[in-house]
Amino acid sequence: MGKISINIKSGKIAKQSDVIIGIDLGTTNSLVAYIHENKPIAVKGKDGKSTLVPSIIHFAPENEIVVGEAAKLKLIEEPHNTIYSVKRLMGKSYNDLSEIQSYLGYKILDEDTDSLVKINVQDKYYTPIELSAEILKELKKRIEEELEATVSKAVITVPAYFNDAQRQATRDAGKLAGLDVLRIVNEPTAASLAYGFDKLAEDAQTIAVYDLGGGTFDISILKIDNGIFEVLSTNGDTFLGGDDFDKAILDYWYKTYDIKATSLETDRSFAQALRLAAERAKKALSSTESFSETVHNIDLSLDIETFETQIKSLVNRTITACQSALSDAKLKAIDIDHVIMVGGSTRVPAVKKAVANFFNQEVYDKLDPDEVVALGAAIQADILAGNQKEMLLLDITPLSLGIETVGGLMDTIIPRNSKVPIKAGRNYTTSVDGQKNLKIGVYQGERDLVEHNRKLGEFILSGIPPMPAGLPKIEIQFIINADGILKVKAMELRSDIETEIEIRSQYGISEEDMAKMLMDSIQNAEGDMKQRALLEARNEANNIILATNKFLVQNDSILSEEEKSQIKKLHQSLKETVAGTDKDAINKAMEILNEYSAPLAHRAMDANIQASLKGTKL
Ligand code: ADP
Ligand code: MG
Repeated sequence: MGKISINIKSGKIAKQSDVIIGIDLGTTNSLVAYIHENKPIAVKGKDGKSTLVPSIIHFAPENEIVVGEAAKLKLIEEPHNTIYSVKRLMGKSYNDLSEIQSYLGYKILDEDTDSLVKINVQDKYYTPIELSAEILKELKKRIEEELEATVSKAVITVPAYFNDAQRQATRDAGKLAGLDVLRIVNEPTAASLAYGFDKLAEDAQTIAVYDLGGGTFDISILKIDNGIFEVLSTNGDTFLGGDDFDKAILDYWYKTYDIKATSLETDRSFAQALRLAAERAKKALSSTESFSETVHNIDLSLDIETFETQIKSLVNRTITACQSALSDAKLKAIDIDHVIMVGGSTRVPAVKKAVANFFNQEVYDKLDPDEVVALGAAIQADILAGNQKEMLLLDITPLSLGIETVGGLMDTIIPRNSKVPIKAGRNYTTSVDGQKNLKIGVYQGERDLVEHNRKLGEFILSGIPPMPAGLPKIEIQFIINADGILKVKAMELRSDIETEIEIRSQYGISEEDMAKMLMDSIQNAEGDMKQRALLEARNEANNIILATNKFLVQNDSILSEEEKSQIKKLHQSLKETVAGTDKDAINKAMEILNEYSAPLAHRAMDANIQASLKGTKL
């Protein structure tokens, strides 16, 4: 198996493996697994210690990037340079972030817009995609060391509730890490595959997957019928997990040993030591009755009864979510055939007891709860590789389908390998005041710029009533029927106008050309991503430049001369950066302009409200 190829960068001859790898890209920990002698195994690092790679990225001096255990050690010491929980930011815009911001120790560029978030480290700006790609690169390195060969194909898991944008972001991260992502699989589906529930019975089965990780809790109810998975309902809490158990222990210790908040703030290494001890205590109590240890001269101890009392309300919250998931699926506990335990925190005996109690049956916990999702991903990968002949492969789209957006960027609407028939859509708007027509170019391919992809067709949505830029609501829908015919529809929702085209040629491409397109997309991923980041930054900046122009005209009387000239100055420097090719400089200039003008915008808004109140009195 495998072929010999030459690494383009190093010139070294490397063995290339045909293995498709399975990846669990977690909020707290990530893992990579593959099928070895017909069995899925998770891969350990060179030190042979653990299969888990903490999903933490540390920026050391000189922009050196460290991922995993070594990065975790820097978490408390250097919070600004150490990024965790990046999965929470995948596919999110600033407007989605209100609840997350206070939870993170690093800086997120705050623009109060619909654009996707960026993370500021030192003088650089990173997207969650780029950061996730660093974690994926680490996993790729790990398995390549194990196999002594390069790998290029992967299956990556995501939570069942991830939306299109979050799934696409995960695919893009894979691409950037040099991986062709053959499929995105739901985490609970992967866990069920690991237990082999897809081949257990002739009849349809209903499965509950209880996943309690480090910072998140998910409960999913799945139906499996003839090897096909359907998600019946999902529920959970995106801010509830093992970290909260640690915090409950810390709070108890603070009270019991009279530890003052001030001593924690001034002595970070003390705070870090306590936090790590709390996690050790929790883990110890998963297999013993009591824990004791001396940290900075304090004799800490904790017994299992006290621990269970401290976490009781947290565990109860997960059970309430299970109840909601059942009622959303219109089911009762008795309808569930199997309950699977996933996530490191399900090792806590009190958790297992509560779940078994609620579903009134023994839970499945034989497989390592940390690994079970990655193992299932490896099995899915093996099915895709065609190694499990009894599994059926459904009709899928061979290449991604999407449209051209501002700057010549490809916006994927149906990702490659999607099951057919399928319907997917996305909303757009105009970029110019009074715009009447919108040209829609339909493309196929994996590259970030449409010029590198294959054009399938083009049409114009005309007759959009004149409105200010950004106001029209244009929905673009892609529908592929069971015969593989693609229909693209564009609708302006405020005025009800619509147009559509039918495209029959999406499969008129040879296997060879397709393979070449895929290869190109991986080889150019880094350059493409840079170009995309620059075009997107320019785009955002151009919107801000237009908005600032409007703002200056509309609020001329409210602003002082000095404010006006300062805004104009910052506005001018933003324009200059847009003319250049440095995305970080554009982002920085936007940030400075935003910071300066935000309070002025608030004042202007207050003044406008005052004015309209006066107006109503007349
Ligand atoms: P995620 O899916 O969010 O990436 P994981 O499934 O890796 O998270 O779970 C990580 C959590 O599991 C951490 O809070 C960790 O402390 C907890 N954990 C790991 N092992 C144990 C154990 N033996 N007992 C209790 N909790 C554990
Ligand atoms: Mg997980």
